[in-house]
Amino acid sequence: MIVNRKEFLSLSGKTLMGLPFFPALMTAALGRSGVPKRKSGEAMIEVKVKPLILKHTWTISRNSSDYKTNVFVRLEKDGIVGYGEAAPNVRYGESAELTVRRIQEVRSVFQHRDLFHYVDLKQEIDARIKDQNCARAALDMALMDWVGKALGVPLYRLWGLNTQKAPVTSFSIGIDTPEMIRKKVREAESFPILKIKVGTDRDEEIIQAVRSVTHKPIRVDANEGWTSKEEALEKIQWLETQGVEFVEQPMPANQIDDIAWLRERVPIPIVADEAVKTAADIPALVGAYDGINIKLMKSGGLQEALRMIQLAKALGLKIMLGCMIESSVAISAAAQLAPYADWLDLDGNLLISNDPFQGVGVDQGRLRYNSKPGLGVDGNW
Ligand code: MG
Repeated sequence: MIVNRKEFLSLSGKTLMGLPFFPALMTAALGRSGVPKRKSGEAMIEVKVKPLILKHTWTISRNSSDYKTNVFVRLEKDGIVGYGEAAPNVRYGESAELTVRRIQEVRSVFQHRDLFHYVDLKQEIDARIKDQNCARAALDMALMDWVGKALGVPLYRLWGLNTQKAPVTSFSIGIDTPEMIRKKVREAESFPILKIKVGTDRDEEIIQAVRSVTHKPIRVDANEGWTSKEEALEKIQWLETQGVEFVEQPMPANQIDDIAWLRERVPIPIVADEAVKTAADIPALVGAYDGINIKLMKSGGLQEALRMIQLAKALGLKIMLGCMIESSVAISAAAQLAPYADWLDLDGNLLISNDPFQGVGVDQGRLRYNSKPGLGVDGNW
């Protein structure tokens, strides 16, 4: 299904529900299809699909989109509500339809359980959901939000983290025409660091457009777009002259020997993104990459992200904390771990125009935490 920005914006709510995968999902959200009747003391999980509309068409080296279809989870038990979010990504074989299905399949796991046994619950979810890590992420987020709320503390406090240590977040600029890139860079004036999407045959033009407007530090993300090590070397050597701090995923994730070759020849750090999803992927990256970009949607949630942070640090890798196009639910969840990060890229909620939630904010690139328990989010379910 391809709907361009103009067509999407002209769709009424009724028509939107007519899109191929919407009827079943919306029905599930409305509770007419298999939402179990809840007895007192039982946990209830609801699933909803919400389209997130991008302020600008979002283009990276692989694809382009005007909106993203994210899946939201609401977990209620004993009058306490936890929220979670999944951002399905085609790069990892994910879809909103499969994500909703997987969440519905494991819903009963929570029903009669002590939610403070979140470690056990997470293991059971992971054992049953094998193909949609973003579905795992949404459930883990809702679970940890519930736990934080039940204890009356923000998760960053539960984990002993000082939010003052969270680094400044970058703001991402998608691939576009030079004119639009200049416009986007001007719009991002309040952010001290930018992350520029590259990995095209006109990367120089993109960076020159950025540099015609600003001299602030930039990072680049090629999203696996450079296919030969020689091309990657030439590009990175030029990018160094343009004040680029580091480069994210210059080549395809499976070309690890090429990345190691590249790393011996360039002084700026190389950060893995597509090459790392969970902790199990990390040991193989040592020697080829300087750091890893941890995202909740890839890891399958906060608990696994914590494990990744500890393992990567022990192996001498730097920590970048990133995101997909996400609402304030998932961004606020990632922000709970931000004090662990060396580099932060938590801007997914700032790229959309219809965020259904509010949570951790941002001011001049600095995250603004609140003292609300759990993830610290409120919004329109
Ligand atoms: Mg990336």
